[in-house]
Amino acid sequence: MRVIVVGSGIVGASCAYTASRLGAEVLLADAAMPGQATAAGAGIVCPWTSALADDPVWYDLACASVRYLPGLVDELTERGPADVGYRQVGALIQVHSGYEQREVRQRLLARRAEAPEIGDVAALTGTEARGLFPPLREDRAAVSVAGACRVDGRRLAEALARAAVARGAVITAGRAQLVCQRGRATGVMVKGQVIEADAVVAATGAWTGAFLEPAGVPVAVTPQRGQIVHLSVAPADTGRWPVVLPAGSGHYLLAFEGSRVVVGATREKGAGFDNRVTAGGLAEVLRNALAAAPGLAGASYLETRVGFRPVGPDARPLLGPVPGVDGLVVASGLGANGLTMGPYAGAVAARVALAQPPGIDLAPLDPLRAAEHAAAAG
Ligand SMILES: Cc1cc2nc3c(=O)[nH]c(=O)nc-3n(C[C@H](O)[C@H](O)[C@H](O)COP(=O)(O)OP(=O)(O)OC[C@H]3O[C@@H](n4cnc5c(N)ncnc54)[C@H](O)[C@@H]3O)c2cc1C
Repeated sequence: MRVIVVGSGIVGASCAYTASRLGAEVLLADAAMPGQATAAGAGIVCPWTSALADDPVWYDLACASVRYLPGLVDELTERGPADVGYRQVGALIQVHSGYEQREVRQRLLARRAEAPEIGDVAALTGTEARGLFPPLREDRAAVSVAGACRVDGRRLAEALARAAVARGAVITAGRAQLVCQRGRATGVMVKGQVIEADAVVAATGAWTGAFLEPAGVPVAVTPQRGQIVHLSVAPADTGRWPVVLPAGSGHYLLAFEGSRVVVGATREKGAGFDNRVTAGGLAEVLRNALAAAPGLAGASYLETRVGFRPVGPDARPLLGPVPGVDGLVVASGLGANGLTMGPYAGAVAARVALAQPPGIDLAPLDPLRAAEHAAAAG
């Protein structure tokens, strides 16, 4: 069976890897669009603290995704070293009051019964928090969540694509155009050449609407621009610094090996596919980072990355077969959580493309859901 996966971000790379493992002949096409979300993403894996956790569909998928990651990372290292920056470093939720600290701690402890991956949950003083992440302000207490992880999305996607190639997948560079005939996706056209397949997977991130146009189906995915700043605190050893989530701000800080601290990020609707770094974006990110961690004021500026989060009609991913178009599968709309959920979502998409049981209920994730309603209403 031949499967064409369009898009080699985290979702497409994972899909190509799983489809290859399941014995499919895989072609992975990517147009190297500026603003790939995977290459810009921070890499925080800590869904239990998200406001979205109140949606059981989103939360179950997020928890399944968290459980899927360690085994996947192990698989990738079986054939040789693959440093994907994955580490359980824990997270600190910075709080403003003792009341908030108790409330956050109790909410996490209640969730832990069904999600033991959350690990130890502890109340820390500001001084204790600063002992773990030295640039932090000392007057903010925190709740620590031992199970939180971080991963380098760019490296994970590259490692997945390499592992797919090792199992026979072929990578092609160029913009793919969907080819549909009589209600069926029959393949794609890349650089003027038509390539046929039994199934096509649209792992095209924020560009999914444009890719699906030839199928004549409305899909509600829009880009949400994120600007994120990388700093160096050399020569500090940052490899085990936790993720920091200042409560209520929507911003965060995390660290990787090599004295690298990542702070972000903007969430900009309406910027379209404009992938510029803006003065306002930089100011917002740095203001929030320094408010949480004034000790970063002396850090060196390394770079700013810009990515387009693929945002669907609601927070749930768009995942599964496209009703009315045989052979077409969508895996998109992962929004701000695609580095957490993308590896799992890509694997589910591969199973759907190969007509295997997906392992989850796809009905609430119907790729056409709200766009259909909007089209009918308007
Ligand atoms: C600043 C920022 C911070 C983030 N932080 C986190 C985080 O901490 N934790 C987390 O879980 N998630 C985070 N995310 C979200 C996460 O990065 C995204 O949800 C995820 O990367 C989306 O992956 P994707 O594969 O769907 O899309 P993308 O990574 O955007 O990949 C889509 C690919 O499709 C290709 N493509 C599109 N159209 C075509 C075509 N016609 N032909 C060929 N190729 C095509 C593009 O070139 C691109 O490579 C963050 C995102 C941003 C921007």
